[in-house]
Amino acid sequence: MRTVAVVGGSLAGLSAARALREQEFDGRVVVVGAEDRLPYDRPPLSKDFLAGKVGVDDLALTTDDDADLDLDWRLGDPAAGLDRGRGAVVLASGQEIAADGVVLATGARARSLPGAQLGGVHTLRTVEDALALRRDLTPGSRLVVIGGGFIGGEVASTARELGVEVTMIESNPIPLGRVLGAEIASACAGLHGDNGVRLIAGTVVTGLVGDARVREVHLADGRVESADAVVVGIGALPNVEWLAGSGVDHDHRGVWTDARGATNVPQVVAAGDCTFSHCAFAGTALRQEHWTHALQQPAAAVTTLLGRTTVDAARPPAPYFWSDQYGARLQFAGHRLPGDAVEVVEGDLESRRFVAGYRRDGELVAVFAMNQPKLFGKWRRQLVPRHATTVAELT
Ligand code: FAD
Ligand code: NAP
Repeated sequence: MRTVAVVGGSLAGLSAARALREQEFDGRVVVVGAEDRLPYDRPPLSKDFLAGKVGVDDLALTTDDDADLDLDWRLGDPAAGLDRGRGAVVLASGQEIAADGVVLATGARARSLPGAQLGGVHTLRTVEDALALRRDLTPGSRLVVIGGGFIGGEVASTARELGVEVTMIESNPIPLGRVLGAEIASACAGLHGDNGVRLIAGTVVTGLVGDARVREVHLADGRVESADAVVVGIGALPNVEWLAGSGVDHDHRGVWTDARGATNVPQVVAAGDCTFSHCAFAGTALRQEHWTHALQQPAAAVTTLLGRTTVDAARPPAPYFWSDQYGARLQFAGHRLPGDAVEVVEGDLESRRFVAGYRRDGELVAVFAMNQPKLFGKWRRQLVPRHATTVAELT
């Protein structure tokens, strides 16, 4: 293999490029990025960057050491097609990159709602999005956050810090209920109330109304909420449309891979938020749309691409995320299913300092912690995969 094209110039793409060099690939590595910027970190976009505490330079993911990787960056020119017959990644500009190995790392983009073209309506995925939102978070203004997931929770927290009045609208009965289960999600939702966020759960938005700028958010239950600005945080869609006709199996859930990043096409692997991957902890495929996955999974995908096996690739880490809201650190690892028994194993819910363990058939399958990072680590280490790492091994 002489040239590898890494498509996607963010966390998963950079991690893949680094892994290629760490695994002693000494050919050409071309990194194709749709954005006009070198890779930057997204988690601060809803937290310290949105709050104005850190600047654009602080987001850089590349370091001086990365100069030694000898990467050929192609930024601001998205991949528009993968031509397997000719072994080329075709860019929007028409340029072609001949490559005998490809890493797909195109991530995801924010889902939106009809009416989102009105002024003051935001989604949050990029630096530009965060800068635009920040301009609208003026003290005393009214922000309606649609979606009580990660974007919703973190933006609400930062907006409160900036003195903004916040109303959160979540379609499920409890924000994060599907992820954490009712009991633990309720403890997290309590943080919103403690911090003066008005939570409206169990209803959906039917319209965003205004003239040039948004003025009102209309709800299915007939309520009308006034708004100076709106954040739509209702999930993310994988960037996979450009793969149409490539022969790489994908759908609206992402690029299909096994736990080691292998797609159905030899010499094409995928990593990060764009993947719909078999998970050895879930025993099924899912999208892990979190930072640590985009950091760690590319090494296994590169191992697969280079045709090698390592102990790490055979024993993947448990799915993991953290979220910072109102000064609280939330952490979760493993895979939870409805019906799993949950029990607080350290601390208590009321003190907002606890660890909860989820069990299935008596076995620990997931762990959640609020403000208990050290104890969380102890419990997290007990999680082991319950299923094989590749689909083939399952049969
Ligand atoms: P992305 O970061 O989405 O990057 C994909 C890159 O590929 C982008 O630059 C995109 O422009 C580019 N691209 C798309 N299409 C093409 C194409 N056709 N050709 C070339 N390039 C293309 N996770 C946590 O665990 N904890 C957190 O606290 C946390 N906070 C977050 C806060 C925010 C505001 C956001 C948006 C995400 C947060 N995440 C967090 C999630 C985490 O940032 C993502 O999981 C991670 O960024 C995924 O990395 P990725 O490289 O797979 O995808
Ligand atoms: P998310 O975590 O999927 O949460 C979206 C929430 O909005 C879900 O609860 C969803 O319910 C709900 N929802 C969907 N449609 C709605 C509607 N029309 N009205 C009201 N609520 C609606 O997605 P997100 O918060 O937008 O985050 C976007 C991406 O960034 C995700 O990939 C996320 O993982 C990532 N991110 C991660 C972090 C972190 O890990 N700390 C932080 C920020 C962003 P259903 O689930 O029932 O659809």
